[in-house]
Amino acid sequence: MKTSHLVVFLIIFFFQSLFSQSLTEKKFTSNVSQRALLSSVRELVNIGPRLGGTASGDKSVKYLSKKFKSLGLKVETMEDPEHLTFTNQKWFLAVEEPKSLRKLIKNEWLGGFSPTVPKTKSKVVYINDPGSFEKKQIEHKAVLLDKAFSQKSYQRMVEFGATAVLLASPKLAGAYSQWALIADLQESENNKIPLFNLSYGNGNRLKKELADSVPVVISFSAQTSIDRGSPKTVVATLKGESDGYYLVCAHGDSDSGGPGADDNASGVAGVLEIARVFNGLVQSKALPKPKNSIKFIIWGSEIHSTEHYVKRNAKELDRILAVFNFDEIGTGATRNCLYFESNDVPHNEKLMKLFQKVGEEFAGKKGFWQEATTNPSQGGTDSYMFFPDYLRRLNLPDVKIPSVTIYTAAWNEAKSLLQTQGWASTAWKGNPDTVVVDYSAYYHSSLDIPELTTDKEPFNMVGAVKAVGIVLLHLAWGK
Ligand SMILES: [Zn+2]
Repeated sequence: MKTSHLVVFLIIFFFQSLFSQSLTEKKFTSNVSQRALLSSVRELVNIGPRLGGTASGDKSVKYLSKKFKSLGLKVETMEDPEHLTFTNQKWFLAVEEPKSLRKLIKNEWLGGFSPTVPKTKSKVVYINDPGSFEKKQIEHKAVLLDKAFSQKSYQRMVEFGATAVLLASPKLAGAYSQWALIADLQESENNKIPLFNLSYGNGNRLKKELADSVPVVISFSAQTSIDRGSPKTVVATLKGESDGYYLVCAHGDSDSGGPGADDNASGVAGVLEIARVFNGLVQSKALPKPKNSIKFIIWGSEIHSTEHYVKRNAKELDRILAVFNFDEIGTGATRNCLYFESNDVPHNEKLMKLFQKVGEEFAGKKGFWQEATTNPSQGGTDSYMFFPDYLRRLNLPDVKIPSVTIYTAAWNEAKSLLQTQGWASTAWKGNPDTVVVDYSAYYHSSLDIPELTTDKEPFNMVGAVKAVGIVLLHLAWGK
């Protein structure tokens, strides 16, 4: 070999080793398909609310099994314990009087566990304090409220002969002005009158008419079914060299009972996409078999199914090397930020540092995110079921499983959290001591639909999938 050839060879070798990691990362990230993510969300939302144990939940399980199987992955479906389920089959709500408001009702929604009621016409009465009203005020009337009500108040409304409850959404800066936050009745087969959730704007409009002494009459009907049913959880496995496994998961139900595009068809689409890309790379030998297996799990019902999973796997919880949970990766009202939760759990440190590093390294780059940060625990999603204090509550061994939720929005208004000391991210553009958790304007609402969330901001899902993919390359392949 000539010296000049050797020099060229060494230079190439040098640059290859310098960039070998990013080349592997590129293999993953360049295969992430925005189109596949968006079409998964649309297909899931078209199935219905996908609540665990209902017909639409079962249909979504079939859809997911088929998708995972088409990749060539081994798929199991686990039946979770029965619970009371609600199916919203058909409902109707319209203003009859004043005639000028006949087209008012648009983005309203029937609350969960509402009973079936025939077509009914009722006068509307506004009650300011849901804890205080008399029979003569509400008898034979639909009660308009603009504050949350207790089960005791609901029972009294029933007892006093009210025909329905109309609940106006809260007044928030960025949500529910023209669409409805979905609130449910208490889970029961014995609720007597339906709950209709109104947008803030429409609730206010009706209130104004009533305040001006204009009679308001509505007509409504509801056809629902309330049954016991078992949610089903889908588990697909990409086999690795060892017994330990990483768990990539998302809740498959729209926990509000609404369309649930962001919460959580976006998360489910993310799991499907990671499975598709990794499996494709392994099958084409672009990547070797991973050192550890990766399980892709779609929970039938948020928390309920996860709790069942840890109970079922009580004896081998130590096989779970880490949990990656996607919950709401489809939108963000004010930022383009990826959040990684929880950085305040000591045994999460190593995993969170890796997320922080990836978040910082790719922020601002083309095809990635603008901002990224880890944040302290907020609770309320499936990653928490793997933490020692939750396991202990179920009398399970309190093994220390690193567990993270990846999201781009939570709740229906921005929330400021004190950043955990030592965790300020250089990819965070705000005050380093604070994490402002971005929100979804369509959180748990009648308009959590693809057109207003994922279709509008597809980069959220793309970014979340890329971040988890890169972290998994480091962990499961040692790349
Ligand atoms: Zn969720």
